[in-house]
Amino acid sequence: MTTEQIIHRLNELQKVSNELDLPESEQRIMLQKVTEVTDKFINGLPQVRGYNPRKNGNLAIKAEKTPLSELLETYRYEVAETGINAAAGTHLGYIPGGGVYTAALADFIAAVTNPYASVYYASPGAASIENEVVNWLKSVFSFPETAVGSLSSGGSVSTLIAFTAARDRHQVKNEKVRNSVVYVSGQVHHSTQKALRIIGLEDVIIRYIAMDEHHRMQPEDLSVQIQQDLASGLNPFLVVATAGTTDTGAVDPIDEIGEIARRHRLWFHVDAAYGGFFILTSKKDLFRGIEKADSLIVDPHKGLFIPYGVGAVLIKDADSALHSHYYTANYMQDGANEEMLKSQANLSPELTKHFRGLRVWLPLQVHGIEPFKACLEEKLLLTRYFRQRLAKLGFSLGPEPDLSVSYFWFPFENETDEMNKRLMDEIHADGSVYLSSSVIGGRFVIRMAILAFRTKREIIDRAVEMIERCLHKVIQSEEK
Ligand SMILES: *Cc1c(COP(=O)(O)O)cnc(C)c1O
Repeated sequence: MTTEQIIHRLNELQKVSNELDLPESEQRIMLQKVTEVTDKFINGLPQVRGYNPRKNGNLAIKAEKTPLSELLETYRYEVAETGINAAAGTHLGYIPGGGVYTAALADFIAAVTNPYASVYYASPGAASIENEVVNWLKSVFSFPETAVGSLSSGGSVSTLIAFTAARDRHQVKNEKVRNSVVYVSGQVHHSTQKALRIIGLEDVIIRYIAMDEHHRMQPEDLSVQIQQDLASGLNPFLVVATAGTTDTGAVDPIDEIGEIARRHRLWFHVDAAYGGFFILTSKKDLFRGIEKADSLIVDPHKGLFIPYGVGAVLIKDADSALHSHYYTANYMQDGANEEMLKSQANLSPELTKHFRGLRVWLPLQVHGIEPFKACLEEKLLLTRYFRQRLAKLGFSLGPEPDLSVSYFWFPFENETDEMNKRLMDEIHADGSVYLSSSVIGGRFVIRMAILAFRTKREIIDRAVEMIERCLHKVIQSEEK
């Protein structure tokens, strides 16, 4: 091709490629259409059902153009109104959060400006915002200034990062793996075992420490197990305490566990993915000793009500965090002089990533911290309220939870598990409020996880009415 031919072809191509940059007037119109849909969605939330079955439309990508309004309609019908409505206060299953609007605005800004947040040199401002969110978290959990941290996609990836640091610090590799021991409680989140497998520690020994009647790890048993393992020549290296278990809302005795870990020089990890932000409430004392942790994970997409896709990890020993993640490459040499700890890329498996910091940074400052605290405090009280109302209906309840996750079952005379499963099915078929189930202590139970910021007393009342309605159905069908 001659230069003239190239120029001619470029001019032709541009006529089409320019379509990716919309004229301002069209951007406005599109944005307005989007906010019409999102406004309508939010306005409808007080009335929506907690669960809707899957619709059957076609979401496959078509190569030709489709008008935005048509796509928005498809989205509303096929996505926004399908499955668990996780933005609604009626989501009391798994671990809800909600998704505050100001975080969505932050995501919009982040996407339009598209800064390269993981390398300080590339975007000192965005990298600083990421680091300030980490700094704020360090202050919340009384971690020292020298600790490092990173914003991840969620608790599972945060756990991976924390355990990799623990593994590298204790050099658990090769023949050492089979002799190394990790201590957890039976209520540990499965992302713990999953992370161990992913980072090559599938063959470590996992000890499940006994729990008390509130599902909290028993420090005495932990101490005994570690001593036995040391006596048999094994290599204890990691203790995982949970600050807010997913199924039972229990906070392990962090201070005592931390002390035992320190005494035996084990890496002390605290999984505060769900419960961590309750440290900002009247439950603060339960978190005493959390600053002893070598690593801690917490999910802003749970207890800070940010939309899904942001977790955090804090690690005290910067060197152990850098060991696996710090890397230089020739094509990155322009940034090599900047301090490596300012670049998140050195502390996480991700290089290019979504600028997550803004979706935490902006909401915290637009609202101030008080509404977040009030929301968490409200969830604690709503949990008590829900339990009291269920008790009055004759339900059996799990032990008083430390936080806002609890469980219950109806004491049917025969086939209790089977009957409670039927009750769960009725609740799912009803769908007005979403609850999920679990098996705790060998018993089938229905869980209530109260954390979504839009969950208020009216919704708990609605849940109680629904449960009562479903219970009658199950009892009636049994009598027939
Ligand atoms: C939710 C949760 C996780 C996993 O976090 P994701 O963000 O879902 O990956 C880990 N631990 C606990 C205690 C959790 O509640």
